[in-house]
Amino acid sequence: MEKKLVVAIDGPAGAGKSTVAKLAAQQLGYTYIDTGAMYRAVAWKTLQQGQPVTDELILSVVPDITVDLRYHDGKTTVLVDGTDVTDSIRTPEINHIVSQVAALGPVRTKMVDLQRDMATRGGVLMDGRDIASHVLPQADVKIFLTASIEERARRRWLEMREKGYDISLEQLQKDIAARDKADSEREISPLVQVKEATLLDTTGMSIDEVVAKILELCNEGGQA
Ligand code: C5P
Repeated sequence: MEKKLVVAIDGPAGAGKSTVAKLAAQQLGYTYIDTGAMYRAVAWKTLQQGQPVTDELILSVVPDITVDLRYHDGKTTVLVDGTDVTDSIRTPEINHIVSQVAALGPVRTKMVDLQRDMATRGGVLMDGRDIASHVLPQADVKIFLTASIEERARRRWLEMREKGYDISLEQLQKDIAARDKADSEREISPLVQVKEATLLDTTGMSIDEVVAKILELCNEGGQA
């Protein structure tokens, strides 16, 4: 039987990680694990408290939160304490606070434990910021996916516009740059490209081309 690989994909916001990771996972028959959705889930519960967002407020929701990712037929459903939040975690309000949420140690410890549990049987493709560097350092395949800031902002803008959000491209580019800065400069498990990772700059590449490249790297990784 073919070896079931553990594939780690890291990169900055809007690089297209989830789009291509989902497609590659489908082709491989693997489970796709969107770790960003888990930090977004904690951000969602924090906002539900209806109070100004402080580190204390964020930390107060962590002990009792249950975050559940269900992957079925190429689609991930995100549940927080049993409530389906799949669509409500992708809003400008969540984008705005999620890096603050993800910088806190107790949040990360809880989410990373869950992420490692989900990867124990292999056959997973996990995307995030610290997957190769911290969550799954033994991953068989490590990819760092990026694109120019202009291209990433444009992709996110199209996505948000499709969902009906009226946000300027310029504002989105600023928001993404701020999130990248916060994610790269935080103390705990910052966004980094580990030296073993293959750099994939997707600027100017089509989705199909990126997926094909990922499958090629998995093929090589499976033989290593
Ligand atoms: O991937 P996505 O943009 O949905 O991630 C949302 C946020 O969650 C990131 O900006 C980052 O702050 C945080 N995150 C993280 N570590 C991960 C995945 C996401 O800190 N492994």
